[in-house]
Amino acid sequence: MAVIWSKESIVARMKEEGLRITPQRIQVVELLLELPHPTADRIYEAMVGKFPHVSPTTVYSTLKLLIEIGIARELANGSKSSRFELAETDHWHFRCRLCGRLFNLEPDNRESLMAAGTDHGRFQVDGCRVEFYGVCAMCRE
Ligand SMILES: [Zn+2]
Ligand SMILES: [Zn+2]
Repeated sequence: MAVIWSKESIVARMKEEGLRITPQRIQVVELLLELPHPTADRIYEAMVGKFPHVSPTTVYSTLKLLIEIGIARELANGSKSSRFELAETDHWHFRCRLCGRLFNLEPDNRESLMAAGTDHGRFQVDGCRVEFYGVCAMCRE
């Protein structure tokens, strides 16, 4: 499940899937590679300088397309503040309730987690989302 995306491989994948490659779409991809867990608004803000005509809707629909073809995923936590990331590695998250930052965690004990999720093999699991929340190391100091 660990794919490491680069700009080139993402654009190749988009072409394979028959998506139109536009400068705006490329920019969304670049920002997903650059920014840690950005919201759609954050991506939009980073884009308006270069693409004054871009709308939040364009950003959002591009993100949706990238999700549909398996390149990105949405870390759902209510629609407006939803964050996005490249769907490259299976990892867990820690969300800090003070600074709002989202950290990646290495999954641990995947086997016992899968055993629980599949109800010991009865269910087919397509994915799993683990999110811890609390106060991060920086905010605890
Ligand atoms: Zn924090
Ligand atoms: Zn992440």
